[in-house]
Amino acid sequence: MAQATSVLLNATEQQILNALRETPDGPLKTRLEEFLLELTRMVSNPGCAEIQADGIPCGTASADCQECLALDKMLATLRSTLPQH
Ligand SMILES: [Zn+2]
Repeated sequence: MAQATSVLLNATEQQILNALRETPDGPLKTRLEEFLLELTRMVSNPGCAEIQADGIPCGTASADCQECLALDKMLATLRSTLPQH
């Protein structure tokens, strides 16, 4: 179901949305959407054990947090498996 929004996007967000919308419908796109949803939820809520007093997770993976470091390593590993352009 399509829904009109009025959200300001930065350049990266716009690129991600454009690429997603240019992807033809099909099983690959479905898998990509599912993966992106799970991945972005995971990274936006890393489950830091030592969450800051204001309830905000670590802002940077350079913080000494095992959860953030593990996520950062996973993202680097995933990226390293992508074919180079
Ligand atoms: Zn953290």
